[in-house]
Amino acid sequence: MVVVGQGCWLPEGTTMMHELGHFFTMPHTFGNASSYECGENGLFNWERADGSNCATSGDGFCDTGADYLSGRWTCNSNGLSNCLHKDFDGEIFSPEGWNPMSYANDDCVTVFSDEQTAAMKMDMDSRGLTNLTVSFDPIIEEVNKTAPLAGETTPFDLVYFAWDAVPNATGYIFEVNRTPIFVPTFRVENELLLTNDFTSYSLTPNTTYYWRVRPLNEAYTCADWSDSGTFTTGDFALSNENILEELDAIILNNNPNKIGETINFDLTVNQSTDLLVRLISSDGKTVYEQNEKVNLGNQNIQIATDYLAPGLYFISLTSGKGQHQEKIILF
Ligand SMILES: [Zn+2]
Repeated sequence: MVVVGQGCWLPEGTTMMHELGHFFTMPHTFGNASSYECGENGLFNWERADGSNCATSGDGFCDTGADYLSGRWTCNSNGLSNCLHKDFDGEIFSPEGWNPMSYANDDCVTVFSDEQTAAMKMDMDSRGLTNLTVSFDPIIEEVNKTAPLAGETTPFDLVYFAWDAVPNATGYIFEVNRTPIFVPTFRVENELLLTNDFTSYSLTPNTTYYWRVRPLNEAYTCADWSDSGTFTTGDFALSNENILEELDAIILNNNPNKIGETINFDLTVNQSTDLLVRLISSDGKTVYEQNEKVNLGNQNIQIATDYLAPGLYFISLTSGKGQHQEKIILF
């Protein structure tokens, strides 16, 4: 991977070109030369002005010219350095600034030499980089956020985020922030995701949060952020509601559970009871509700799923003596 700062990635900038050169094995044109004082003789193992040792000194290429400048430099109107160079033999020369692997400024640089290009192609071939099957499809559609709903109050200990899969996206940058303008220091979640949902367990009660998503793929990272979503955590936690006196055990037989296949769970109760069995979506909506008379011992309960969307749900059991919830994922 090659990463450069945004300031190095301007249309007229050549830093990315230089760093990609390194990525494909290119050395600097000045090779091992360093701390050169203009007008002094170069060392014996530095590239000579006449190129006689070009294959074994400098960058090892013979169509790039000698260069001893290992600090940034500006070229003159002829594209040459104003720093008078002398090689080991006393030959005088001026390095050329066109080479992307020199330290000449951006406006001096043009293109790689033929030998450099051939060497980079060889490197790409040897690493299998010429047979990439990366999708270059741009991401055009906007993100449609589905949970939590705008302005919703959620439990604080578990908040489920979801949005529709965006065409051509293979991943998403996901952010939750305390501020509506997404100030970096107030980020509370910042993830690169390969799925179009996320569950946060790290939010605090009675707090307003803002969240957004940016879709991307291997070759396209320019999609806009989604609109900002907002929600507030309440002072209630899902985990605190798990007190149902009659319940000894609950076993979910399929979790995650495929949509189309029934949710199927076994209850063991220590006394007969009337239970309200509900399935609740992550945005708090009851999508299924049934009263069940449960006798002492074991009972199997099933809920159809064909009408439901993928996501996180809660199986909720309520009696006069409390409530119990279990998370279940539908996919
Ligand atoms: Zn470099």
